[in-house]
Amino acid sequence: MIRRFLEKPGSVDIAPFERTVAAAGALADRARDLSLEELREMAAGGVGSAEFCAAVREVADRTLGERPFDVQLVGTLAMLSGNVVEMATGEGKTLAGALAAAGFALRGKSVHAMSVNDYLARRDAEWMAPFYAAMNLTVGWIAEASTPEERRAAYACDITYANVSEIGFDLLRDRLATDPEATVQPVPQVALVDEADSVLVDEARVPLVLAGATDAGAAVPEIAALVRRLSRGYHFEIDDEGRNVFLTAKGTDTVESALGISLYDHPGTVTEVNLALHAHALLVRDVDYIVRDGRVQLVNASRGRVAQLQRWPDGLQAAVEAKEKLAPSDTGEILDSITIQGLLTRYPEICGMTGTAVAVGENLREFYKLKVAVIAPNRPCVREDEPDRIYPSLIDKELALADEIVAQHATGRPILIGTLDVAESESLAKELRSRGLEPVVLNAKNDAEEAAIIARAGELGALTVSTQMAGRGTDIRLGSPEVAELGGLLVIGTGRHPSSRLDDQLRGRSGRQGDPGRSVFFVSGEDDLLKAYLPDETLPKADKDGRIRDKQAAYLVGHAQRIAEGVNTEIHRNTWRYTRVLEEQRARLLDHRDRILYGDAGAEALREARPERYRELVEQSSEEAVATAARQIVLFHLDRCWTDHLGYFADLREGIHLRALGRLSPIDEFNREALPAYRKLLEEIEKRSTASFDALDLSSPLAEQGLKRPSATWTYLVSENPFGSDWDRVLRRVSSALRGRKKG
Ligand code: ADP
Ligand code: MG
Repeated sequence: MIRRFLEKPGSVDIAPFERTVAAAGALADRARDLSLEELREMAAGGVGSAEFCAAVREVADRTLGERPFDVQLVGTLAMLSGNVVEMATGEGKTLAGALAAAGFALRGKSVHAMSVNDYLARRDAEWMAPFYAAMNLTVGWIAEASTPEERRAAYACDITYANVSEIGFDLLRDRLATDPEATVQPVPQVALVDEADSVLVDEARVPLVLAGATDAGAAVPEIAALVRRLSRGYHFEIDDEGRNVFLTAKGTDTVESALGISLYDHPGTVTEVNLALHAHALLVRDVDYIVRDGRVQLVNASRGRVAQLQRWPDGLQAAVEAKEKLAPSDTGEILDSITIQGLLTRYPEICGMTGTAVAVGENLREFYKLKVAVIAPNRPCVREDEPDRIYPSLIDKELALADEIVAQHATGRPILIGTLDVAESESLAKELRSRGLEPVVLNAKNDAEEAAIIARAGELGALTVSTQMAGRGTDIRLGSPEVAELGGLLVIGTGRHPSSRLDDQLRGRSGRQGDPGRSVFFVSGEDDLLKAYLPDETLPKADKDGRIRDKQAAYLVGHAQRIAEGVNTEIHRNTWRYTRVLEEQRARLLDHRDRILYGDAGAEALREARPERYRELVEQSSEEAVATAARQIVLFHLDRCWTDHLGYFADLREGIHLRALGRLSPIDEFNREALPAYRKLLEEIEKRSTASFDALDLSSPLAEQGLKRPSATWTYLVSENPFGSDWDRVLRRVSSALRGRKKG
């Protein structure tokens, strides 16, 4: 036990859970003889006890045909205690999670079981349904296409399975409701998060956005055309990490003479040029986005999938559309937005499960006060993880990779090749086809279809090329004993990811439940990871066969990855510092809004502010009519002012960084401004509401009295945080370039 503590700092001691589960083993015979009714009583008697474990194990066995292993029950108990459990791929987290969800439900809590896509939400809900039914618990699921009625019904269940973004979008839409009946989501209680590291850490700072239709904003084709003629190194520079691009003094001159204006006096144009440059120089077609059906669709780099609902912040979206000479899509105004982290921190209880939690243990503690419980596999993992094969150049690597695939495929051994992006998948597939192979390529276009394909990736002769997370959550079983004899599934990574967790997730596709298997990554000195994070290092010399075996090379690859991980955590931390203030204000304002929506706070405030007017209006109509109008008036202005407040915050962040050049700490400055801004927001709501109330004409619709709500709303995720640090840096670079030039 002491050794376990020493080995895994920050992790939970699971020994007490193990003792409970051992005690449950002794109750198995007794449980076998009980009726479902009796088992339910036994489970409800003490959630988290040995009796509970023995009872739910027996119910699962009878209803699902799978008898939970001890390790799964340990995972269940750790989740019931509010931890994130680390259990390897294929260990049966779905079942362990369902047992925990049942435990929370028996404690009287409603559970939101969050998954990473719609397909998995529905699959898990339907798969576990017989178990829940036998426990007398209700279960529902939500998908993107679900109607408000379906959503309301699903949320009314004890356990609701849904993609985390759907839950966030429901929250945002509810938050705009002007009628209590129109909301779908109840007060959050328990979040049980699958793939917890991706959701809680990797996607934490992704904002979920609710936008409303406004008049279409103008795209800027002239600026896109101008920027297309600029060249790197002369007109503009890209920073070491490849995240920012900025004009040089030469570039600024060129742009100014082409546009015939001074950029210094036209900050709006500076932003447009900047966005165009960002679209031109940093976003690569088929890597960062694809163009399909005349529209730009983003590729989520960490998952290598096309994200249907994702788009960039409006300006950048328009810039990319202009770059690709596409018609501009609808632009809108951000009505409200919440980050995934902001969404999750609303839940009083959070727990989760994933194959890779320890590596983000620090982040989970820092951002969510969560601990990690490490659970050993049911059967020891015997997969061989080969050291990286490292080559000097990309071409050397690609040749060696193709040779290895051809050789291994000839034996009949199934191979799963994980690529870093869609473009790489396509080019590798092309190369393999030219060598007479027929790979199946998965780009995460259709989760259900790809789940079916990936499920067969362990069959004899299977050759599957997949972006990192296509088909994730689906188990790869070995097709036959013959496959096991050949060494099981061979996983090949075409490059190391910017985080070792992503590497481990790919490796984990092989060697499930004690299966044989092997994994290996191919790396080159020209890989983006090395170029971006260790630009000044050169790898040691290669051996005669073209491969670098010097230990220093492996060290440098690991080092580059650790730098990448550090940069990501720092960005996360920095974004959260800013968004936290906003999320707190948002939460406070929404409490206030709820009192108006569900109660009479709006009417009361207006009656207090304008007693005469209130009486007069009641005499004209009725108490009820005035109260309803008052509610609509205050809700309208509250929502309107919040939208403006968000815009103000965005400007504030940009402006703060300009001031930061004068040596003030940006976050302190920001906080100093944020509180007065919030006070002003409250005053503004009151002021505008009273003005509307004074002018109120009860005989005509409110929409005709300047209280028109957005005609349509839609939701999306942004992969570049509009309030995020990338933008600050872009802006800072431009402004300092301008300053430098002015002086010079
Ligand atoms: P994970 O999410 O941990 O990768 P899954 O929940 O997808 O794993 O389960 C992997 C496979 O293991 C599934 O096919 C499931 O049916 C099977 N499984 C889970 N628990 C058990 C069990 N106790 N006995 C037998 N099979 C199980
Ligand atoms: Mg799973």
